[in-house]
Amino acid sequence: MQHSTGPGPLKLPEKPRDYSALIDGRFVRAGERDVIERENPAHGTVVSRYPKATAEDLREALKAARRSFDSAVWSGLSAADRSRILLKVAALIDQHRVELREIECLEVGKPIGLVDREIGGTIAHWEYAATLARHSYGDTYDTFGNGALGLILRNPVGVVSMITPWNYPLLINSQKLPFALAVGCSAVVKPSELTSGSALRLGELLMEAGIPAGVVNIIAGTGLDLGDELCSAEEVDMISFTGSTAVGRKIGALAGERLKRVSLELGGKSAHIVCADADLDLAAEKVALGATRNAGQACVGGTRLVVERSIAEKFCEAVQTEISKLKVGDPLDLETTLGPLVSGLQKQRVEGYIADGERAGAQRWSLEADRAVSALPGHFVQPTVFTGVEPAMKIAQEEIFGPVLSVLTFDDFGEAVSIANSTSYGLAAGVWTNDLNTAIQFSRKLVAGSIEVNTFLAGVPELPIVGHRDSGVGHERGRFAIDEFTELKTVQLQTRPI
Ligand code: NAD
Repeated sequence: MQHSTGPGPLKLPEKPRDYSALIDGRFVRAGERDVIERENPAHGTVVSRYPKATAEDLREALKAARRSFDSAVWSGLSAADRSRILLKVAALIDQHRVELREIECLEVGKPIGLVDREIGGTIAHWEYAATLARHSYGDTYDTFGNGALGLILRNPVGVVSMITPWNYPLLINSQKLPFALAVGCSAVVKPSELTSGSALRLGELLMEAGIPAGVVNIIAGTGLDLGDELCSAEEVDMISFTGSTAVGRKIGALAGERLKRVSLELGGKSAHIVCADADLDLAAEKVALGATRNAGQACVGGTRLVVERSIAEKFCEAVQTEISKLKVGDPLDLETTLGPLVSGLQKQRVEGYIADGERAGAQRWSLEADRAVSALPGHFVQPTVFTGVEPAMKIAQEEIFGPVLSVLTFDDFGEAVSIANSTSYGLAAGVWTNDLNTAIQFSRKLVAGSIEVNTFLAGVPELPIVGHRDSGVGHERGRFAIDEFTELKTVQLQTRPI
C-alpha cells in the first residue's frame, strides 16, 4: 500500500471537537451524554469532548458484543473476507492519517512532526493482522491407527474487553483490536479517558470498512467507573489490558476470581547496555532518543543507561550533547522534538522522582529552560540525566515515565547483567556492541521480553511484545497473537475399518 507522507503545521482548533462512542453499530454523540473534556497538555485549551459512558451504555456495549459473537456474524465469515475488511480499515487509516496524527498531537501533546511514524506503525499492524486472519487454523492427528482420527479446532476466544493507556493511543489499540478481529472475536474497547479521540474516530472508520454492528464497541470513561464491570461481566471471555503494573495487578486479581483469560502489558524500566567497543556516536544518539521519545512516556523507553566504566564519562557527554539538540516546546510546531507530559499529575510525579534522585545523592544534569516553553502554561519537564546512580536508588528501580535517564556503570559482563536485571520489571533492553558473541550472551541473560541490538524503538508488528516479571502476563502482536485470542477444541472421531 502506498502511504501518504509529510506532516504540516497545526493550529489549535477554535472550538473542541465532539466525538461519538460506538455501541452496537450506533453512534452516541458527545451532546447526548455528560462529556469528558480533554485539554491540550501544552496550551491548556480544551480540544476534545467525549461522551462519558453510563453504566447502561457499558451494559449495552457488552451485550452487543456478546450477541454479535454468538450470532457468528463476524466469526462465521471466511477468514479471507475478514482479512479483506481489515485491509480496508488499514486503507481508511492511511486515508485519514493527517486527521489522526492531529488528534494524537492535540490530545497527548506529541510533536506533530514526529507522530506520523506512529500512524504508519498503526497501519502496518492492521495490514499484518489481515495476513494472520488466514493462518488461524488447528491441527490433525491421523496417527492413532485405524480406530480414530483426532482434530484440533482453533476457535476465537469470544468477547474481549480491551483497556488501553494514554501514551500511544491509536497504536496500542491497534496492537490488540485487529489481531482479535482477525481470528473472529468481538470486542468492547475502553481507551484512556485522557486520550480517547483516536479510538472513537477509529470506530467510525471500522463501520465504514464494513465491520458488522456490535462486533466492535468503543466507549469513553474512567477505569474507576467502568473497569470492574469490563473485567467481571459474564459477557466477557477475555481481558486484554495495557497500562500500569498497579492497575494490571487489580485486573489480574479480578480475572483470577472470575476465571477469565487475561493478557497484561505493563510497565518497564528498560536498560541500554553500552559496551566500549560499540559504535558510540550511534549509541549516544539512540540512547538519548530512547530516554526522551514521547517525553519519556514510553513503556519500552530506555530509561537506564548501563555503560562500561572506561568510556562512561565521555559517553555521557555525548548523550547530553544529543539531548541538547532536542527542541522542547509547542507540539503544534513542526520543529519541536520534545513536547509536554500528558498531565499536571504526571508532571508532579516526574518532578518528585527528580527531587528524589538529587536527595539520594545522584548528580543531576538538565537541559536549560527554554523561553518558548516557559511561555506556555503546559506540563513541560526538561530532559534530565542523572549520573552517579546506584542500582538500589528509586530512580534506578521505578518507572518514572518522563524524560529522565539514570546512568549506572559496569566493569564486566556479569556486573552489567546483574545491574540490568536488578529491577522488578522485564519489558525491554538495548545492547550496544560490535562483538556478536557479546550480543548473543547478553540476549541470553537479560530478563526482558524484547531485546534490541544496536538499534532502539524499532518495533514491528511481526515481533511480539512480551512482558516478563512485573511487566506483564501474555504477549501481543506477531503470529503468536493468534494463540492469545483463540481457544482450542479437540474432536476425536471414532473410525472403523471398511
Ligand atoms: P493506567 O494503568 O493508569 O491506565 C490504563 C487504562 O486502565 C486506562 O484506560 C484507565 O482508565 C484504566 N484503568 C484505570 N484503573 C482501572 C481499574 N481499576 N480497572 C480497570 N481499568 C482501569 O496506565 P496509564 O497511566 O494510562 O499508562 C501508563 C502505563 O502504561 C505505564 O506504566 C506504561 O509502562 C504502561 N504501558 C505499557 C505498555 C506495554 O506494552 N507493556 C505500553 C504502553 C504503556
